[in-house]
Amino acid sequence: MEFYNTLSNRLEKFVPLERNKVKMYVCGPTVYNYIHLGNARPIIVFDVLARYFKYKNYEVEFVQNFTDIDDKIINRANEEKLSCEEITKKYIDGFFEDVKKLNILSDVKRPKVTENIYEIIETIKKLIDNGFAYEKDGDVYFEVKKYSEYGKLSNQKVDELEAGARIDISKIKKNPLDFVLWKSKKENEPFFESPWGKGRPGWHIECSAMSQKYLGDTFDIHGGGQDLIFPHHENEIAQSKCAYHGNFANYWLHNGFVQIDGDKMSKSTGNFFLLREILEKFSGNVIRLFMVSTHYRKPINFSFEALKDTKKTLQNIVNAMNQFESTINLADKNLFENKNSFEKIEEFDKKFVLAMDEDMNTPQALAAIFEQIKYTNKLLSKLEEEKEIVLEVKKSCESLKNKIENVLGIDLKNEKQCKKNNDELTDKLIELLLEVRKSARVKKDFELSDKIRDNLKDLGIEIKDTKDGNASYSFKD
Ligand SMILES: [Zn+2]
Repeated sequence: MEFYNTLSNRLEKFVPLERNKVKMYVCGPTVYNYIHLGNARPIIVFDVLARYFKYKNYEVEFVQNFTDIDDKIINRANEEKLSCEEITKKYIDGFFEDVKKLNILSDVKRPKVTENIYEIIETIKKLIDNGFAYEKDGDVYFEVKKYSEYGKLSNQKVDELEAGARIDISKIKKNPLDFVLWKSKKENEPFFESPWGKGRPGWHIECSAMSQKYLGDTFDIHGGGQDLIFPHHENEIAQSKCAYHGNFANYWLHNGFVQIDGDKMSKSTGNFFLLREILEKFSGNVIRLFMVSTHYRKPINFSFEALKDTKKTLQNIVNAMNQFESTINLADKNLFENKNSFEKIEEFDKKFVLAMDEDMNTPQALAAIFEQIKYTNKLLSKLEEEKEIVLEVKKSCESLKNKIENVLGIDLKNEKQCKKNNDELTDKLIELLLEVRKSARVKKDFELSDKIRDNLKDLGIEIKDTKDGNASYSFKD
């Protein structure tokens, strides 16, 4: 398995710290609003990665935090006239509602900042003791100049960063690049007790403290969106290495942005769609398939048109899988006692693994799946002459299901259920229209009754009047 490691700027062979085990940390959302589609991308990308490790029989330890204390949360609480606890509870509940629809793995540890203040303070204390941080008037800062490798992840030199940094008017910091680890309390803000007085943690320190608590001084993979590389991840590295002296994360994986018309989707610019708005129109499966259709490091251009196309593609997958399954169900069960070798299907599995092993190339993995569906469809046409081919169909169906459901996380069962529900709803709506039409005819409002008949016909639904005054309908191709 190979990953593109942001730290080394190249593809690297993946060697886990422990055999068949992977420890991953991914930065989670700041819970001051419902998540938008841009936030959903790392959630899906790293869910697919965790699922793929499981597919390869790895044990996965996956931690993703909630930032539940932050300026934006405090502002939002004031806006909505709620407490910070009420705000974060509201949006954490919302988060779980949303990701459930995306079929995200449930065995992810999701620690909150406010529940890890002790660990955060301990980490800051270590940084002060080790000579990398200083306290000034109740604030604590990380002293960037003391850490010689600062800038390595984002490929920047401290001197250049310094030249670009704004002059700090407050003059509290020794250097404008120094970043805050602990902020002293301001009026009307929530606070925690600390050795430096009342206050709250800066943003970056939480990930260093929580990843160390749950995964140790060194773990395998750290992930997040590309926008977090600088300063957030750069600062995490500085904090973790200087406090704990481990290697922190061995592999740094960053996903590309979701764009609308070429611009990054972002809450701060107002250029975004909430995930739940999109989930009203499209299933979580469509959104997942849309996301994995592009390589995780590349930008994705979002549009409703693109989602409509993805929906069609998903429907083709579901239809094919339904057909394979009904063929298997109808087959002579005695045949299944036979043992055959299925070289072709194994080849498809290998192709899928090869694509996924190469820096999680999901579009190529999908191409292998489509090729396999095509091949399996061809098998169906040979069934009449050779009944035993159903064994290969069965094997292929199992292999496809494993990859589509367990790795890509597309819930085929749920998709079928949705389709069934939609079909039932369509039937009920047509029947309702037929009733309206019937009463129009009774009132001799033929203009309305003809309009209903003609408009339904335009939609491909043909009405036939029966002698008893009722009507039946059928779908035309
Ligand atoms: Zn983080």
